[in-house]
Amino acid sequence: MATTSICFWLTGRVLLMLAVGLLVGWFADQVFLGLFLALALYTLWSHRQLYRLLGWLNRAGDQELEPPQSSGAWGEIFDSIYRIQNRHSRAKKRLANVIERIQESTAALNDGIIMVDACGGLEWWNRAAGELLDLHMPDDQGLPLTNLVRNPKLAQYMDDSTDREPIKIDSPVHEGRQLQIAITVYGQGSQLLLVRDVSRLHQLEIMRTDFVANVSHELRTPLTVICGYLETLGDAVKMSDDMPPAFNRALSRMQEQADRMQRLIEDLLLLSRLEATEPERCCQTVALKPLLAGIVTDATALSGEKQHQIRLDCQDDSAVLGEPMELRSAFSNLVYNAVRYTPAGGEILVKWWQDSRGGYLMVQDNGVGIDPVHIPRLTERFYRVDKSRSQMTGGTGLGLAIVKHVLLRHDGCITISSHPSSGSRFICHFPLGRIVPG
Ligand code: ADP
Repeated sequence: MATTSICFWLTGRVLLMLAVGLLVGWFADQVFLGLFLALALYTLWSHRQLYRLLGWLNRAGDQELEPPQSSGAWGEIFDSIYRIQNRHSRAKKRLANVIERIQESTAALNDGIIMVDACGGLEWWNRAAGELLDLHMPDDQGLPLTNLVRNPKLAQYMDDSTDREPIKIDSPVHEGRQLQIAITVYGQGSQLLLVRDVSRLHQLEIMRTDFVANVSHELRTPLTVICGYLETLGDAVKMSDDMPPAFNRALSRMQEQADRMQRLIEDLLLLSRLEATEPERCCQTVALKPLLAGIVTDATALSGEKQHQIRLDCQDDSAVLGEPMELRSAFSNLVYNAVRYTPAGGEILVKWWQDSRGGYLMVQDNGVGIDPVHIPRLTERFYRVDKSRSQMTGGTGLGLAIVKHVLLRHDGCITISSHPSSGSRFICHFPLGRIVPG
């Protein structure tokens, strides 16, 4: 009923009571007493209705109780509240049904889903998540997930999950099993965790790396023998004058290809090791100036007659925490690439600098450059922009994949910017925790 009609009812009733009081008072020659009694009676009646309303609201609580019977405006008030209450309880039931259906469908998933509030407390999880992470409903509800699943990698990921790849952790329940966790942030800092058992994929991945490592290892010995014989043959051919030129050419081609295969096997072995082993826990302090100076000297030798201008810009006391051999391998791949993909006389700059966000190693050249469409896939194994050009330069197609893995093991990342004919710039970023203060 509209508010105006309730007001009309109330005013109408008050006027009626006043009229009755006035009439009775007039007959009894006590007009004011009559009016006073009429008003007092009306106030008492209104109070009684108010108490009935409060009593009903208190009793109703969660259950649906019929409102008390009343007439006039109070009856309308009771009915209006009852209608609103009914509407709300119908909406609540609908919502509860939707939530129940969502929970039923997510419970049927094989992947775990966990909802964590802005403070890291567990809000809700499905059956699979409970099994994968050993969470118990309702005992664990509200507890911080990181207290129940004690894993530093997960704690770090939950602290900062923005723009980060999913992580893999050892299962806290089943030994030897691997879980992949991906976090999506929603609402006011709440997190949705997707937990997946990737043990099988992980097993296949291990089998693949083991296979590549074993094959490379097995090929290394026969290849060393072949290279040795080719070298001996080459020396013999050089000394003899009556060898046909075609034989000479064939021999030098065989030596070239054997060398390339050896480089390929070394790179494959290094990549398998980088993938298969955990990074060293205690890192060494790697002074950058001597490391980069050595690489620049080797690059100058590689450049040879091409006479590239290779410049090094690095402070004497710059150093990072890491594995020296791995860092050498990554940085030398970048500098040698710059030499191989820059025409004779080109300029190459190797520069190290630091700021409040960490340290940066840049290798910049003014060589052939790369079309930006290739850049996202450049660090994939055997991805080449131009196969024939890469083969001419003697590349293995694994250089940038090695760089990426080394940086990952040092909590770093690589940024590539390049355009055809205007050179390339590769920047390796190391976080502040990896920088040794000078
Ligand atoms: P490759 O052994 O073939 O050089 P990499 O993994 O080192 O393999 O590099 C992948 C591809 O990226 C190369 O084939 C080449 O096309 C391109 N590339 C790498 N560095 C440079 C560079 N400095 N300038 C131009 N192209 C480059």
